[in-house]
Amino acid sequence: MSKKLRMGMVGGGPGAFIGPVHKMAAELDGKTELVAGAFSQSAERSRAAGVNFGIDPARAYASYTQMFETESKREDGIDFVVIATPNYLHLPVAEAALAAGIAVMSDKPATATYDQALKLEAAVSKAGLPYGLTHTYAGYSLVRDARSLCAAGAFGPIRKVAVEYLQGWLSQPLETTGQKQAAWRSDPALNGPGGCIGDIGTHAFHLVEYVTGLKVTSINAALRTVVPGRKLDDDCNALLRLEGGASGTLMASQVAAGERNGLRLRVYGEKGSLEWHQEDPNRLSVKWLDGPEEIRHAAGGYLSADALAVTRLPGGHPEGYIEAFAVLYREFAEGLLAWRADHTHALPATLPGIQAGVRGMRFIERAIASSRAESWVDF
Ligand code: NAD
Repeated sequence: MSKKLRMGMVGGGPGAFIGPVHKMAAELDGKTELVAGAFSQSAERSRAAGVNFGIDPARAYASYTQMFETESKREDGIDFVVIATPNYLHLPVAEAALAAGIAVMSDKPATATYDQALKLEAAVSKAGLPYGLTHTYAGYSLVRDARSLCAAGAFGPIRKVAVEYLQGWLSQPLETTGQKQAAWRSDPALNGPGGCIGDIGTHAFHLVEYVTGLKVTSINAALRTVVPGRKLDDDCNALLRLEGGASGTLMASQVAAGERNGLRLRVYGEKGSLEWHQEDPNRLSVKWLDGPEEIRHAAGGYLSADALAVTRLPGGHPEGYIEAFAVLYREFAEGLLAWRADHTHALPATLPGIQAGVRGMRFIERAIASSRAESWVDF
């Protein structure tokens, strides 16, 4: 029997975006192998995806319930499941997996609503099984470096953060053309109540708390729907207050025409600041109040231990999205193996988990409440 961890997937059917990325990332370090899946709500499409992924055809299931039932009885059954479906399925799939004794790696947002996130938190705690959440950007070495610099107090007390996540792909009513990814993201029943704020605002919010180590305490958000007829927000501007007196701005938009995946974080302390851009992820700019600007390059020997721990290649050999995703999978696999030894071992603190999931869902819920009330709301 293979010594690799065995992964099942829910979602990732023909034409899906993120499912195939999960497979590449999970398998990159040779610790995990995709062996089973319920890849689509259609049995036929699930089978087709299974063939494409090269798994045993008998393990391409017609539904996730069938997969958990069958796999939990096999001696070589799956060790964990990855959830890569539209958001409304995240809670039921995770609950069914946990009930069958199967650990969970889920894509974000953790659930479709904040109430569901609280239910999921209770289910994870009751099952006592590992749960990881793929906030991809947490896997970049220079995000880890930025986090280490903030934790070491390199910039003095943090005073201001500015995060923006700008995309342009929903500038037209793409959801009316049958485009799959746009269709479910624009349907409140399949997506949840937060459109752009849930889809990419949660990544921006997570990045702020992950890098600064500070919690957001209140928010004043203005959500809008720019494209006529769209049922959910597609554009957001928000002010933030953080622990320790820092303040910030969070801008998220999917109607910023011409932008692709423009996630950028700036953090300002008393003595200096940092800037990281996910479309140029192998450089971290550090600026000082009284000194020249520094560019920290991925794989530089001067980077923090946390950054070097997730570096694979020598400098000048760019690492990107799949490698960052794979960092999260490597930490999940190592955490799951350690957990098996004593059933108490927590996953590494660098890997987002259920707490990050609940925070993200609280963020969406608070942003919507603030926008409706047109005022500040506390977290
Ligand atoms: P998608 O529409 O491309 O893929 C969703 C897949 O789920 C499809 O193959 C669909 O057939 C399948 N599916 C639907 N119902 C199912 C069911 N009952 N059983 C089995 N499969 C089912 O969507 P996507 O863009 O890949 O997004 C999927 C999830 O990943 C979303 O929650 C999204 O927020 C998240 N996501 C995360 C990132 C990231 O950077 N971490 C990026 C993109 C998407």
